[in-house]
Amino acid sequence: MRLEIDLGAIGDNARAVVERCAAHGLRVVGVTKGCCGQPAVARAMLDGGVVMLGDSRLDHVRRMRAAGIAAEMMLLRLPCPSRAEEVVALTEASLNTEPLTVRALSDQAVCRGLTHRVVLMVDVGDRREGVMPDRAVPTAKAFAACPGIELWGVGTNVACLSGVLPSVENSQLLLDVAREVERALGIRLAVVSGGSTATLKLLEQGQLPPGISQLRIGEAILLGTDTAHQRAVPGLRTDAFTLRGEVIELQKKPSRPEGILGRDAMGQQPHFADRGRRWRAIVALGEQDLRTGGLRPWPEGMTIIGASSDHLVVDVTEADPQPAVGSEIAFALDYGAMATGMASMGLQKIVRRERQPGEI
Ligand SMILES: *Cc1c(COP(=O)(O)O)cnc(C)c1O
Repeated sequence: MRLEIDLGAIGDNARAVVERCAAHGLRVVGVTKGCCGQPAVARAMLDGGVVMLGDSRLDHVRRMRAAGIAAEMMLLRLPCPSRAEEVVALTEASLNTEPLTVRALSDQAVCRGLTHRVVLMVDVGDRREGVMPDRAVPTAKAFAACPGIELWGVGTNVACLSGVLPSVENSQLLLDVAREVERALGIRLAVVSGGSTATLKLLEQGQLPPGISQLRIGEAILLGTDTAHQRAVPGLRTDAFTLRGEVIELQKKPSRPEGILGRDAMGQQPHFADRGRRWRAIVALGEQDLRTGGLRPWPEGMTIIGASSDHLVVDVTEADPQPAVGSEIAFALDYGAMATGMASMGLQKIVRRERQPGEI
């Protein structure tokens, strides 16, 4: 089994997103966390014109640095105070809310004779990271008082923990906070970092308030999708990632189990409709490899019945052509499947330049 990554699709998507954002005066941070900082993917994003790379984990950043990627990088997850030294050594900027952490970053930056850029995150409704808007000015003052820190801007993140969608109102709230911080501190902020893939929809509709200057985009570039709005982003490619697994059993069986039902391997109680006897393929893949709930067999005509740790069962009765034992079934992936698959030790990852026309 292997996870194939088509760099051509990622480069095309990065270019398209960068162009679309540039037309509205926005710069793009290319977010590599979904592919664990895969260096070839990061390079494809940079070739596509992103101004900076963003990742949530220092391990991923270290992987890209070790591969020789010198581009500016932003740490997206709030830094662990205990890792301040590495944050400053490996990245140019980070998202922050806690003065204690920023003071630790400042101390490390001063030691190294450099300045670390900080974006103050503001919670406009999703209730993950971010200070509440009324805490923005005092927190910004605390950040700006640190000698090794440049208060680079303010930012927000929605559509993650709670699925709150970006809106004109919550984008405007961030802009209001930016202006308030500028007035209170007597400075100009270089960056208003308005959101992620989910914010592209406002941009397409011409509704993103002017003044937002940066978006941090991962999913749209990697997968061409926008999970928050359950859609493919118009004009982007959705074929960058393909999972292939080998068929190890192909048998015709009743579609309902027989016997007294307890719980499955993952502690769930699945339900199966009675569709008579069906051709069922077992693919050598499972929950230990990635989130199988985010897989879609390709081409269409096959359906996933379920998975345990190491076995994925697919109804292939209507598949054309019919798979055989030893042949491979291809799957498209959603964000959860991609992110867990990329982090999985057991899955081989293969980076390809560009697929051939007609190839699946
Ligand atoms: C993951 C993440 C992003 C990118 O989100 P996508 O939906 O992949 O575009 C942006 N900002 C932060 C803080 C993130 O954690």
